[in-house]
Amino acid sequence: MKYTSTRGGMPPKSFTEILLGGLADDGGLAVPDHYPRLSKAELQAMRGMNYCELAFEVISRFTTDIPADDLKAIINKTYTAKTFGSEDIAPVRTLEPGLHILGLSNGPTLAFKDVAMQLLGNLFEYALAKDRAELNILGGTSGDTGSAAEYAMRGKRGIRVFMLSPLGKMSLFQTAQMYSLQDPNIFNIAVTAPFDACQDMVKAVSNDLAFKEKYRIGTVNSINWARVVAQAVYYFKTYFALTKSNDEQISFAVPSGNFGNVCAGHIARQMGLPIRKLIVATNENDVLDEFFRTGVYRPRPETLHTSSPSMDITKASNFERFAYDLVGRDPQILKGLWQQLEKDGYFDLSQIPDAQLPYFAKVKEFGLASGASCHADRIATIRRVHGQYGVVIDPHTADGIKVGMEQREAGIPLVCLETALPAKFEETIREALGKDPQRPAGYENIESLPQRFDTLPPDVGQLKAFIAARVPR
Ligand SMILES: *Cc1c(COP(=O)(O)O)cnc(C)c1O
Repeated sequence: MKYTSTRGGMPPKSFTEILLGGLADDGGLAVPDHYPRLSKAELQAMRGMNYCELAFEVISRFTTDIPADDLKAIINKTYTAKTFGSEDIAPVRTLEPGLHILGLSNGPTLAFKDVAMQLLGNLFEYALAKDRAELNILGGTSGDTGSAAEYAMRGKRGIRVFMLSPLGKMSLFQTAQMYSLQDPNIFNIAVTAPFDACQDMVKAVSNDLAFKEKYRIGTVNSINWARVVAQAVYYFKTYFALTKSNDEQISFAVPSGNFGNVCAGHIARQMGLPIRKLIVATNENDVLDEFFRTGVYRPRPETLHTSSPSMDITKASNFERFAYDLVGRDPQILKGLWQQLEKDGYFDLSQIPDAQLPYFAKVKEFGLASGASCHADRIATIRRVHGQYGVVIDPHTADGIKVGMEQREAGIPLVCLETALPAKFEETIREALGKDPQRPAGYENIESLPQRFDTLPPDVGQLKAFIAARVPR
């Protein structure tokens, strides 16, 4: 399996060559040169497998330059009951016949990003050890991604994490989750400025190529291909858990932001998993819903701050991978679209004239559908699910259920992905239900744990000095 760029400007590379990188050299995203297609017999054989076995079956097809035994060991070390709360790793809960919630948020940071990030931590450690290399991960976070990255990389050999966060702008729970880590390879940097300033600082350092090279700076953002592939596994797991034969179909509703999670579902479907619909749920930041309704992709000038904050995005960074498939995996066409995006701020796939069918028609063929949700929907859905089923869901999952129900079809099981636990978003749960959500065992007093962080002003020079002082050369 080789990887190329969506924009055609990267020589074919192996999985381990793209593992540690961010964007491809030409600004595009790394994509596999084909989707491995599972035969009927292979799918049938997967039916009886546990999570680790399934993960190996799926992931190994994309990681052909990692020896099978090494990959097995990495997967077995990652997906344990100790880290994810049960042998099931991703348990399915049934609300009513034909309506289910897939629990993806039982990892250390109580959000679905752990599922992929925990694997990434072990893959990074493995790849770095092979080359006796080191990596310094630099990132900015307003909550979920940063903590998932820290919990995945803590204590890993050859890796340091420098994570910028806006001082006093995250919830007390999120702050405590990150700042209470005492591992010497984790550096929490509280910046005395809003989140956007943190992102600007990360960009400024990443654009200084000499500094980046000298201090071996890397990232773990959502465009990382290994993260996307790791997420494809639970679509398989859920399908086999809810069907009796491979002639049945099921649909998934996916609370979406950067399109990583639903992109993984698309990959599973391309590999031959009988998924009927992949329903993209957005919040008020509805750039993806607009695209799937109209064919117009139009990143927004500003992010709206909502009560499902982990879906607050202006553009969906993984969407380029899906668009590449829509235009028949032709990098020249894709590149043209992104040039138009630069120039005009949007493109319209329903209007591309020289194709036999507008490329947008493929959206249906790929099973994609969408909808948007707002604060009032979220609150009403949390209330309804609690009242009807006695289950407390988080605001992101509520967006998924709200949109999923609009697209539900009779006779087709619908699975909503639970992307976080309600304990992470107490304020919204209080507004909806008038009470605090339950916290999982071990998190009761997280705010009172000792915290370890440094404070910096929004100054790139000081950030560079901070890193330089902590990276041996
Ligand atoms: C990251 C995140 C999402 C969005 O996932 P994408 O892969 O970016 O589409 C949704 N919900 C929660 C809780 C998240 O942390």
